[in-house]
Amino acid sequence: MWQAEVRIDLDAIRDNVATLRARTTAEVMAAVKADGYGHGMVPSARAALAGGATWLGVATLDEALTLRGAGITAPVLAWLHAPGLPLHDGVAADVDLSAGGLAQLAELVAAARRAERTARVHLKLDTGLGRGGALADEWPALVEAAAKAQAAGEIDVIGVWSHFACADSPGHESVGRQLAAFADGLAVAEQTGVSPRYRHIANSAALLTRPDAHYDLVRPGIAIYGLSPIAGETFGLRPAMTARARVTMTKRVPAGQGVSYGLTYHTPRETTLALIPLGYGDGVPRHASSAGPVEINGRVHTIAGRVCMDQIVIDCGDDPVAPGDVATLFGPGRPTADDWADASGTINYEIVTRFGGSRVPRVYDGGTP
Ligand SMILES: *Cc1c(COP(=O)(O)O)cnc(C)c1O
Repeated sequence: MWQAEVRIDLDAIRDNVATLRARTTAEVMAAVKADGYGHGMVPSARAALAGGATWLGVATLDEALTLRGAGITAPVLAWLHAPGLPLHDGVAADVDLSAGGLAQLAELVAAARRAERTARVHLKLDTGLGRGGALADEWPALVEAAAKAQAAGEIDVIGVWSHFACADSPGHESVGRQLAAFADGLAVAEQTGVSPRYRHIANSAALLTRPDAHYDLVRPGIAIYGLSPIAGETFGLRPAMTARARVTMTKRVPAGQGVSYGLTYHTPRETTLALIPLGYGDGVPRHASSAGPVEINGRVHTIAGRVCMDQIVIDCGDDPVAPGDVATLFGPGRPTADDWADASGTINYEIVTRFGGSRVPRVYDGGTP
């Protein structure tokens, strides 16, 4: 018997990757950072590889080393490191690392010397996001230094890459501008004698809407988990995560009963309240108070009052509901993670990621051994 669970459909992740692969001739790097957007990093990575991904992408060195520790041998790129990290461990473990400036490149060269091995490097260009990467005026110096280190056998420039700011708003003028800046950066690299095997800039949104951004490798994240980066379009993807719990108790209360902290909700009539053992300690956003949708016995209700740390209360009216009934917050059917995002003023990415690493047990369906 279970009280609350986050179910992950690994076959959905596998199939979503296959769906994405069918849209491009580029190789697919599955983004499995942040514990696979809450779905579990290692199982998600295996499912993505089974679906045809040939690369894995993570933010941190630790995440990359965890994948290697699990026995995953596919190419892995880690793109976010503060100075002073043991990057030589990454080099030794065959992890591709990003350099977005001269200082980072120098660290990678030092890591290669220490590991006594050529570092696999992806040079990052800031084409307009204003986050990581070298700006256009720093780019020629970065590429020249990389070419020198490559000639010395210290690094191998595997990739040149960038990241979009507004690919989730198809038609946003910045997308074309960033693509033009990326092409310029690639031309500078070519002129300097750096011809990377992998040029990559497309996240899920660009993979789904901008074939001209695919280049040699695409880096979908949210789409492999079956969620769309673009409101109102599903692209044939299947949500992989279901968050649900069993009703712990029900009670009949009169009209005017105040419910939950702050008594922000009062029952409009005699009604049945159902107590659900999931709260913000489990990933339910407190911003979804009096707004988050929950399905019980085929009916979708709204949270009554505040989300607590451990629980929420649902006003079920006169609908039949009993202790032990299953209450679904979101899944492949209604409600969706997008409904929760709308109810709490965020994006579907944050909804699923919040449920990762929470106290709720994650249960896996499907997958490949
Ligand atoms: C997270 C991330 C991705 C994946 O983005 P989605 O919008 O989830 O497809 C790709 N590239 C980088 C650099 C990222 O940080």
